[in-house]
Formats: sequence, structure tokens, C-alpha cells
Amino acid sequence: MLKLSPLAIVKRTPLNNCGQCGYPTCLAFGAAVVKTGISLSLCPFIDLTGLDQGQMQQEQPKDQKAADLAFIASLKEKIRPFILSDLAPQLGASFNKELPDTLFFRYLGQEVSLSKSSLLIDGHEPEDPRDQILLYNYVFGQGNQPPSNNWVGMESLPNSISKIKTLATYCENRLATLFTNHAKDEIWSAIKAVDGTPSAEQSANISAIIPVLPMIPQSILFWEAAPEDNFTAQVKVLFDRHVLSYLDLESLVFSAERLADRLDLLLLKQPKP
Ligand code: SF4
Repeated sequence: MLKLSPLAIVKRTPLNNCGQCGYPTCLAFGAAVVKTGISLSLCPFIDLTGLDQGQMQQEQPKDQKAADLAFIASLKEKIRPFILSDLAPQLGASFNKELPDTLFFRYLGQEVSLSKSSLLIDGHEPEDPRDQILLYNYVFGQGNQPPSNNWVGMESLPNSISKIKTLATYCENRLATLFTNHAKDEIWSAIKAVDGTPSAEQSANISAIIPVLPMIPQSILFWEAAPEDNFTAQVKVLFDRHVLSYLDLESLVFSAERLADRLDLLLLKQPKP
């Protein structure tokens, strides 16, 4: 996997220090990509010419990777006593009688098979350990309050103040830029590819419900910019009121980031209007 230097990343930005990536300058963004492994696509203007999808994902620092792998091992240990087939109904998963300790479920339009020892997404081991953390956390949570269809913003979930900006940076602002730069039919085809469906909400230009995981639906509302009213494009992500029965806040924000990653990837493959 290619490792870009901060300078090489900065050279691919327009160097206008606009702050849309969540960092005050392009240089700070380049340094953060190298240091923390955040996605290059957080900068909506970055020139990705010549990089393939694998190359666009920076290597995580070794100590971070080691910490993630240790955390995955501890989650696997924690679910060891569980009878996974018993948990299938409450997780919206299925299982095969011959393989009762493997759960099958959908994750952003992809097929997951998860056992106490292995995890495959669309038949492949996930490259990013954070996907494993999210999916094993989902099982470990053993959520027992099914979605209520009662939607709330991150700010309405308990102890979420520190996560509101993170959600905006890694999901909502990115999606607002992404949707602004694509035609509606392209956006809907990406939403359908992650199993999303239109929602009844009428006030937004695009409103959809996306089952990030079977019991973790997320509602996405997009309002186009209206320069005459000084209104910039916005996306708001809503969660089911019962969501913390399934995932802790950290994993929940990461699941929303992954939703933005998937839509970004699907829309990247489509030409801009
Ligand atoms: S969004 Fe891109 S152009 Fe704007 S500050 Fe971040 S890196 Fe620079």
C-alpha cells in the first residue's frame, strides 16, 4: 500500500485552507492523514488522479494497528461464551443449522459472515480493523430494543456532546459536499446500493433510510444550498432512539463515517455532472 508523505498530500489539495475537511489548513490535513490514517476523501477537492482505492487509504500507524488488533482479540474473547445462533433474531441476522456459530447479516449492502474466530465481508477479510471492531461490537452489545422508528439527532443521545463535531466532520459535512457534486439519480443509485430506501420526510431534497446494520438504521436528510438565502448545503443524520442498545457512541459515529465512506466510494465511480 502506498504511503504518501504530508507534503505529497498537500500538493494534491488546492491549498486554499478552506477548512471543509475539519482541519484549519491543508498542511494540518496532510499531517493528520499520515498520523491518524483518516481518509483522503475528507478533502472534497483533493486530486486523486493516479491513486487506486487501496492507495487512497493511508496505512494506519503501527501502534494504532496493534491496539486495534488487540481490541479485536479482546472482543472475540468476550463473545466466546455466547451462543451466536440464539442472538440471531435480535441482531437481525440469520444462521445455518450446520454452522450455528456463524451469523450472516448485511452491512451497508455487503454480506457479512461472522464467527468467534473469523469475519468476512463479501467473502474477504476486512482491510481496516475498525470494521471488525464495529461488527464484533454489534454482536457483543446484544441489543434487545428493536428500532422504534422514532428518530433523534446525535445531540439527543446521552453524553454525546463530544461526538457531535466528529459526526459532522466525518459524515454529515462530507455527504453535503458529495451530494452537492452529484446528480440526484446518481445519489439514489448509490443509496440503493447500500440497501437504502426513500423515507417519508418531505422537507429535505433527499431523504432516505439506510440500514447500516440490520438493527442500526440511519436516516439521511439532505438540503441543497440556496445561495440567495445564504443557506449552505447540509446533511443531517438521525438515529433510532433505541440505537445505544446495540452500539456505544464511538462505534455509532464510526458506523456513520463508514456510511459516508461507502457512498463516497460508490459515487466516485460515477462521473460528475
Ligand atoms: S478541505 Fe481540502 S482544501 Fe480545504 S483545508 Fe482541507 S485539505 Fe485544504
